[in-house]
Amino acid sequence: MKLDYVTIFGEYFTPLSLSLVGKAAESGIIEIGVHDLREWTTDLHRTVDDTPVGGGAGMVMKPEPWGLALDDLLADSEGRICLIIPTPSGVPFTQAEAVELSGYDRLIFACGRYEGIDARVHEYARTLVEVREISLGDYVLNGGEVAALAMTEAIVRLLPGVVGNPESLEEESHSGALESLLEYPVYTKPASWRGMDVPEVLLSGHHAKIAQWRREQAENITQQRRPDLLKKKN
Ligand code: SAM
Repeated sequence: MKLDYVTIFGEYFTPLSLSLVGKAAESGIIEIGVHDLREWTTDLHRTVDDTPVGGGAGMVMKPEPWGLALDDLLADSEGRICLIIPTPSGVPFTQAEAVELSGYDRLIFACGRYEGIDARVHEYARTLVEVREISLGDYVLNGGEVAALAMTEAIVRLLPGVVGNPESLEEESHSGALESLLEYPVYTKPASWRGMDVPEVLLSGHHAKIAQWRREQAENITQQRRPDLLKKKN
């Protein structure tokens, strides 16, 4: 999978060289391109923003550099491509969305700053490629970079060969075997630590009982913390 990030803060993407995503890049499972939006400016000051038309506070990202960036990046547009525009006014990012996006050949993240990107860029991009406006959650970040990083990690870990044991992707919160429940509590050794014991059933070796206990725990935790998920299921 090819992953491109258009940003005015390329340094935000240095963590992509770490951990599983870094290893995926090293082994060629993903290819990463970080692009400075200012490379597509045409004025001396490399300006990427201007005042909002109609008035109001803050600045808006100008359409011209974004238009040129998209033209260049999409000139080579083989395979299934999606342009992702992180924005708090987008549809919420979910595990289901991560699964869907993991099936693409190329994802391009357009990282906005200030009050966002001129709306005509979104409209123009739709004439070239599939566009998804996605929100990381109901809060406002300073820019799209952190959102792009979070989405990248959720998507890349689903690609074959990235997580050592693919079974561990199945029984996770919001995923396959747990059918969108939150994960049950997990423990490791020692069986007793600072006066707290691992639940007896997990030491029993009885697989069916362990599975039942985990299922009940997952349902209880989901009921307590995210009853909305249970409503969605029913
Ligand atoms: N004025 C915008 C609004 O009210 O919707 C917020 C702009 S925000 C300060 C600047 C940029 O941060 C956005 O263009 C977007 O790229 C990114 N951003 C902020 N919050 C986000 C979120 N919850 N999810 C995804 N991207 C976000």
